[in-house]
Amino acid sequence: MTIKSLFILFFCLSATGASWSQQLSPAQQAELEHLSREAQAELTKALAPGHMARLFDEQIQEARKSGTTPAQIKALESAKTDALRQLRANRQEAARQNTQADSEPAPTDTPDKAGVNSVGALKNRLTHPVPVIYDEQEGRYSHIPRAFRVYAEAKLTPEKWVAFMHQQYGVTLREKGRFGTKQTPVLQYEQLHKSYVVRLARYSITLDNTGYVNRASGTLFALTAPDPGPATTQTLLLALRRATQQPTLPLLTDPLPSQRPPAYAQAEAPMWVPTNLEPTAKQTVLTRPFTVTTPGQVVRWYLDAQTGRVVASENRLFDCTPPAPRKAVRRMVSTFHSGRKAVTLEPVYYNNKPSFYLADSSETPAVVVLSPENETSAQHTDTSLTDAKLRVRGDFDALYGLRRAATYFKTMGINSFDDAGTTIRATAFDRVNASYSPSTKQFYFGMYEGKPLLTLLVAGHEFTHGVSDHYTDFVARGEPGALHESIADMLGRAIEQQVMGGNWVILDEVVPNGLRSMSDPKTLKHPDTYGETFWANPGNLKVDEGGVHINAGIGNRWFYLLVNGGKGQNDLKHSYDIQTTIPIHELTKLVLTTLPKLGPTSGYDDFCRETIATAEGQYGECSKRTHTIKQAWYAVGVLDDPPVPCSGWSFDMVASNGTEQQVTRFYFRGDSAVAVTRTPDGILKSFARRSSPTMTAVVQNTDGVNVTELPKSITPVVKQAVEETLPALEVAMSAELEKARTERNTLGTSPERRATLDKGIPVMEKFLRDLKQGRAKAQKTLDTLQQGEVPVSAMTFWETRQVRRNFDKQHIKAYQKYENKYEASKYVMQNGIYWWSTTRIPLRMSDLMIMIPYSPVTQMRNGLDHWLRGFPLDYLGMFKIKNIREHVPVNFDALFSTAPVFQ
Ligand SMILES: [Zn+2]
Repeated sequence: MTIKSLFILFFCLSATGASWSQQLSPAQQAELEHLSREAQAELTKALAPGHMARLFDEQIQEARKSGTTPAQIKALESAKTDALRQLRANRQEAARQNTQADSEPAPTDTPDKAGVNSVGALKNRLTHPVPVIYDEQEGRYSHIPRAFRVYAEAKLTPEKWVAFMHQQYGVTLREKGRFGTKQTPVLQYEQLHKSYVVRLARYSITLDNTGYVNRASGTLFALTAPDPGPATTQTLLLALRRATQQPTLPLLTDPLPSQRPPAYAQAEAPMWVPTNLEPTAKQTVLTRPFTVTTPGQVVRWYLDAQTGRVVASENRLFDCTPPAPRKAVRRMVSTFHSGRKAVTLEPVYYNNKPSFYLADSSETPAVVVLSPENETSAQHTDTSLTDAKLRVRGDFDALYGLRRAATYFKTMGINSFDDAGTTIRATAFDRVNASYSPSTKQFYFGMYEGKPLLTLLVAGHEFTHGVSDHYTDFVARGEPGALHESIADMLGRAIEQQVMGGNWVILDEVVPNGLRSMSDPKTLKHPDTYGETFWANPGNLKVDEGGVHINAGIGNRWFYLLVNGGKGQNDLKHSYDIQTTIPIHELTKLVLTTLPKLGPTSGYDDFCRETIATAEGQYGECSKRTHTIKQAWYAVGVLDDPPVPCSGWSFDMVASNGTEQQVTRFYFRGDSAVAVTRTPDGILKSFARRSSPTMTAVVQNTDGVNVTELPKSITPVVKQAVEETLPALEVAMSAELEKARTERNTLGTSPERRATLDKGIPVMEKFLRDLKQGRAKAQKTLDTLQQGEVPVSAMTFWETRQVRRNFDKQHIKAYQKYENKYEASKYVMQNGIYWWSTTRIPLRMSDLMIMIPYSPVTQMRNGLDHWLRGFPLDYLGMFKIKNIREHVPVNFDALFSTAPVFQ
């Protein structure tokens, strides 16, 4: 109801102004009237669609919150009917006013028309960093959107974007690294709060080829916690000594002395850490990390910066010095899984006996297989290298497999797991597992029933964990954990396939039936459809850390389908048929290009969105490959609606109010839209890009042709009214008040006049007070309004996929092939509101609003778009879409221009 209150505010102001006009000079009076009229006119225009949009949003939000008792539903839905009636009336009114405004050309020097004024404000606005939220994602951990697309007009530099994020969301960002290609660099940012780094927060921006921000995505936290003020290091050291049970632990400062005690602590910079490193934790604590070195161990302790309480602890082993260069030799060894293979080894003499290091530093990165006994030596004295123990333990497989993995990533432009050429260190351990530790940056492999858990695929898998960790710092639990596992499987599979073919089942060489099936996850009780059969609850950390190896099935199946194609039906009864395939190494390249755009908390939605964005950048928005990638996401249920072919669209929208019909013809191509309406008075054409803040109206009538550029959004208009009109009014009133006071205090003033002034001055004072208060209130309302203009993401709107799926189940009452072609569903609400919509046409309700300027919904998608579940083909018979064609006329460019071309 905020718009309503704004309207009332303006209404009251102008009414009060009118009663006061007798007291003003004719010039002031004229000025005041002019200002009031202008504010009124702009608001009347501006209010209608926004009001409708907000009504819908608020009601639908409420409906979800307040449960579903029939009475509530009925009340809410009759309110919706009212809102829709209003929409119809407002739409006609807006169109009428727009036609009128455009048909009388305004003098160029007086900013008399709303259009001229607001475009001025808009241009002004564009000099500021104002990204448009275009992708439908909003953060799970804060209100900060997970993805932005930026207006081309904004010409946003990374610096401006950082400033914008600070201004809009109050977050402070600091550049962390630069990745990506020369053509499309990706910049990663970390979040700072009170100048300390926030653990788990990450945002990346992709630049276009001119160096401006193209899009941005990631996860940030809305932190309000005050800096508790540092406890003294001495207090914390005492707490640390208690926690580590080292009562005499000394604190060393950098640089470390060459003579060090066997056990010591080092203080690190404070860091914000969610409790237990859990991103959904309600609390983020300012910690003081200490690294404690004891013989054979390095552990980082995160202590509450104020109380010294242990918030988390983490193993950290410092990197070993890479082995000194030695002369390398090629030798044949018997690996366990890959047969006899040539590996590079390094001969040394030890105790005057020839021996070998199980190490290969012949190229960067070096690979070292350490002895599990002390984890420091790679030395091996069996010069024949036939030692059965080494073979069975998998040491040779580690040396061979990790070298192959490193070589694969090198061809992808990534030098070692951290892209810094760091030595790869691996060692056998006595657990039934294979793993990578981001703390020690070391690879470990165990045994299963006498066989090393280190096939080539597993070596690739573990190596990829290292790479992913470097780029994304995934939390290894829940959905990010599943994505972490799945990406590791994808790359491991690609490395295996390159060398030896292999199959799509993981570790079937070691474990009967294998651990995971990428081709058919269900055979091993893993899901192949997001959220459906066999899906593990990511929140239940007791089962596989939130199902990280189980839910990997989703990504694995996606990858498999893209490489091999396939057709079928998923658990949601969605049919898919993937015929175009992508060569496996092309696909891994796409995955690796996408990695830096992900962050610690990214899940499948993020990966889906970002792989599509990468593909669009790499292959083009309408390429077959991009379409195939979307199809595969649809096949595994991450996309609920099928991707639609990238073509042009033309159709008629027939609106009727019972007695009259109005036909508007629409043309869509890519991001561009044109709407043409013919009335007895003339022709109105409006055209705009979706990713642009303005639209253009072209009117042809008996007066000729008029062209006006208009903002799509009401905010600049209202903002301008509040920021310029009200202060002007205030200045005028203050001057008038001052004049009255002076006159009152002048000796020559007549007693009659003085009496009038005595009555009038307090009224003027009160008016001025009200005006100032009103302005503050309007400013506040504007802020809310601007928030409202941020589109409601599908994720926020439906809260969970399940809510959306249930909505479909409850309300779809009929199906048809609309115009014999488009699968359409009839949604019926309880009070009889109905519509037909289709997800086979890539357009939304908001796209139809291009014919209405000043409509927030034109500019961005909103709740209504989500609620309608696709493109509305028939809304209560109020309008119907007819004559749908999947192309645009050859003269589309002329249509999409100010030229008086209308068909
Ligand atoms: Zn793994």
